[in-house]
Amino acid sequence: AIRMAGINKWYGGYHALRDVNLEVRRGERIVICGPSGSGKSTLIRAINQLEAVQEGQIVVDGIELTAGGHNVDEVRRDVGMVFQQFNLFPHLTILQNCVLAPMKVRGTPRAEAEATARRYLERVRIPEQADKYPAQLSGGQQQRVAIARALCMNPRIMLFDEPTSALDPEMVKEVLDTMIDLAGEGMTMICVTHEMGFARAVADRVIFMDQGQIIEEAAPDTFFDAPRHERTRAFLQQIH
Ligand code: ATP
Ligand code: MG
Repeated sequence: AIRMAGINKWYGGYHALRDVNLEVRRGERIVICGPSGSGKSTLIRAINQLEAVQEGQIVVDGIELTAGGHNVDEVRRDVGMVFQQFNLFPHLTILQNCVLAPMKVRGTPRAEAEATARRYLERVRIPEQADKYPAQLSGGQQQRVAIARALCMNPRIMLFDEPTSALDPEMVKEVLDTMIDLAGEGMTMICVTHEMGFARAVADRVIFMDQGQIIEEAAPDTFFDAPRHERTRAFLQQIH
C-alpha cells in the first residue's frame, strides 16, 4: 500500500506538485493521465524517491520514505519501474539485463537469477531473445524485457511511466497485453498512460492531473462517461 499526504514539490521556483494526496491499496490498479507538464512523472517518481519532495509524507508498505535513512533503498527494491525509453543496458544481453539487479542488490546466486529471468521472459513471450542485445530487438520486445527485468526483483508494486508512448502503433498492443496479464495477477500497479482502452479494462481508479494537482479521480466508467470537471472534459476531448 502507498500513502502520499500533503505532497509539495518544487523544481527551483517551479511548483511541480501541489498538495497531492493519494492512497493506493494493495492490489489496486491506478491509471494517471493529464496534459504534458502536469506532474505525472514527478508524482510516480516520488513514490520511489527518484525525485525528492520538499513537503509531505510518503509511506510505502508501512515504511516512511520521507523520514530519510536507509528506507529509500529498502523500498526501491520492492518497487519496479518501467519507463517510456526502456532504459535497458545496451552492452548487456537480455538475460544479463534481467539478472543484474537480483544478483547485485538481492545477492541471488546466478543460476537461480537466470532461471527466474527465463521464466519471466517466457511470461512476456520472448524466451528466445535471452542471448541477444537490446539493439537487436524491436521496441515492443525491448519494453517487454524492461517489464520482465522489473519483475525479476519480485516487486510488490509496479510503476509504469508512459510505457507505450515511444512505440510504433503495431507494438503497443503486445506491451499492453503484458500489462493486462500482470493486472490480472493482483499486482499493485500505477500506470501513467493515455491508453484509455487499457484504463477501462484494468483500472480500479483513473486520476486526472493538471498543473501539479489531482483534479479528479473516479472509477473508469464514471471518469470517462461522466467527468465532473471542465478541465477533465477538455482533456478527454483532446485525446479522443
Ligand atoms: P509529460 O506528459 O510531458 O511526460 P508530466 O506530466 O510527466 O509531462 P513532469 O515531467 O512531471 O510532467 O513535469 C512537471 C513539470 O515539472 C513540468 O513543467 C516540467 O517542465 C517540470 N520539471 C520536470 N522535471 C524537472 C527538472 N528536473 N527540473 C526542472 N523542472 C522540471
Ligand atoms: Mg512524464
